[in-house]
Amino acid sequence: MVKETGFYDILGVGPASSAEEIKKAYRKLALKYHPDKNPNEGEKFKLISQAYEVLSDPKKRELYDQGGEQAIKEGGMSGSGFSSPMDIFNMFFGGGSRMQRERKGKNVVHQLSVTLAEMYNGSTRKLGLQKNVICEKCDGYGGKKGTLEKCSNCKGRGVQIQVQQIGPGMIQQIQSMCPDCQGQGERFNSKDRCKNCTGQKVERKKKILEVHIDKEAT
Ligand SMILES: [Zn+2]
Ligand SMILES: [Zn+2]
Repeated sequence: MVKETGFYDILGVGPASSAEEIKKAYRKLALKYHPDKNPNEGEKFKLISQAYEVLSDPKKRELYDQGGEQAIKEGGMSGSGFSSPMDIFNMFFGGGSRMQRERKGKNVVHQLSVTLAEMYNGSTRKLGLQKNVICEKCDGYGGKKGTLEKCSNCKGRGVQIQVQQIGPGMIQQIQSMCPDCQGQGERFNSKDRCKNCTGQKVERKKKILEVHIDKEAT
């Protein structure tokens, strides 16, 4: 038996509800009572947030089940009590919109601000991204075939070494990537270098991505 069910009641769930059910209930209510949508329901929004903060944390939930709200107030919560309702909301919905993954390569993280209306109705946004692609002119070779030569700046090692005096009788060696060959150790003579990509082997291309914002169940 639990001591009291106030927090469960606020979210419209019961003491036997699963974490998943509690999440769903919070999602629905938080969207409904968000101050942007219901400016007069600030108090309600706060209560929902507090109930969720306790019930979403297994330790706090257990404490609440045993000792009720009193137990939470007496020391279950760290610091000065509950987090701000907005922090809880943002934390919960932070990962709410999914970025379409590019077919090849690494994930690109791009911040996209989403309005509450877009979250309700779902929408598709077009996003222009700069992307490195293999240079078309030289097929990613970087210059005229067979003209690649050892970098004279780093003597083919790809790194350059700088010596710095850091104190009396003390020197420090700093290794850094050779700027002439980008650490490759080899480079093209300026006349043989691909003009399109200036020997970088890649060129920047603009790519349009479609981002789908999932409709929230309300
Ligand atoms: Zn070099
Ligand atoms: Zn090129």
